[in-house]
Amino acid sequence: MKVLAILYNGFKSAVQEPRLLGTVENKLGLDKWLASRGHELIVSSDKEGPNSDFQKHIADAEVLITTPFHPGYLTREVMEKAKNLKICVTAGVGSDHIDLNAAVDHKIQVLEVTGSNVVSVAEHVVMDILALVRNFVPAHEMIERGDWQVSDIARNAYDLEGKVVGTIGAGRIGYRVLQRLVPFDCKELLYYDYTQLPAEREQAVKARRVEDIEQFVSECDVVTVNAPLHEGTRGLINEKLLSKFKPGAWLVNTARGAICDQDAVVAALKSGQLRGYAGDVWNVQPAPKDHPWRTMKNPLGGGNGMTPHYSGTTLDAQARYAAGTKKILENYFDGKEQNPADVIVGIGAWATKAYGQR
Ligand code: NAP
Repeated sequence: MKVLAILYNGFKSAVQEPRLLGTVENKLGLDKWLASRGHELIVSSDKEGPNSDFQKHIADAEVLITTPFHPGYLTREVMEKAKNLKICVTAGVGSDHIDLNAAVDHKIQVLEVTGSNVVSVAEHVVMDILALVRNFVPAHEMIERGDWQVSDIARNAYDLEGKVVGTIGAGRIGYRVLQRLVPFDCKELLYYDYTQLPAEREQAVKARRVEDIEQFVSECDVVTVNAPLHEGTRGLINEKLLSKFKPGAWLVNTARGAICDQDAVVAALKSGQLRGYAGDVWNVQPAPKDHPWRTMKNPLGGGNGMTPHYSGTTLDAQARYAAGTKKILENYFDGKEQNPADVIVGIGAWATKAYGQR
């Protein structure tokens, strides 16, 4: 059987660090195992356009492995070329780079390694919140430049204690963020989600649900986005919603870039409506060199905590999602039942509500 994996290049780093499993070079650690089972594995990072390895090999692959960190965009159009494709496995969490409605129509299963990097991302969110609130990035840049002017940094640095922090999405990552924020003695922890958390889980983090999103953002000093990208969240944070934020709020998005409107974020940061924006996810990945989120700044020249997409691909996370990918493949080859939490699209039907209530 032909297995196609679209992964990111690790180059020298992947040779020096074999635990970089999610790279083209290290092949999720699957190559020898797949060969021993008689399967052909094609691995490439070349994913854009009709002449890419992705579009060439998708024509007869039965299994497609992709990763959110270097997404192979499986559109309906590309899927129509994939005559032999039966199963897509996302090595990680978040399968929005696949047209999931088209996968339902084409009876192509979509699975992901649910939970594999949720702690990795939750830790990153807390780091981003602190980096923004405490004005860390400009402070570090000042030191590298050889300067020392405490007042220029302190004029826009705050404590997290006493602030209101809210998460859009209180699922695996969002809830872990709330758990990690408890010891910071925030004024209040809020969440906006379709569903109310069970009372004991709500009580454990002392979080309050706000059902109206405009009301929710208007109460938060810090908003963190932890919901999947789907029809209901694409462009959710746009000019109109940003105008309802508390002036000078901080926004952290490690969920998906396209949940926030690119230009509206740039404008809100420039005007000071947002004091800071941080995250690791972009509306196109890899982000072009001139993407405005790379260099956007607040009126004081700071407030940008952007990184490449790596929060969920720490070495610890890579070990977990590589093992999870292998388990999903093993179940598929052996005709065993999959872990229900990993199944996004079953054969011809949605298996989760996480990509939009339907
Ligand atoms: P999860 O456990 O499914 O939680 C997502 C939560 O968001 C669910 O409670 C869901 O509610 C809720 N939700 C969905 N649409 C919403 C909306 N319009 N408004 C408010 N809440 C909404 O997923 P997770 O494991 O926490 O992951 C969340 C997302 O993080 C992933 O989909 C992925 O995009 C992103 N992620 C990023 C990285 C990274 O490296 N940056 C790594 C992993 C994941 P229902 O369950 O009721 O639908």
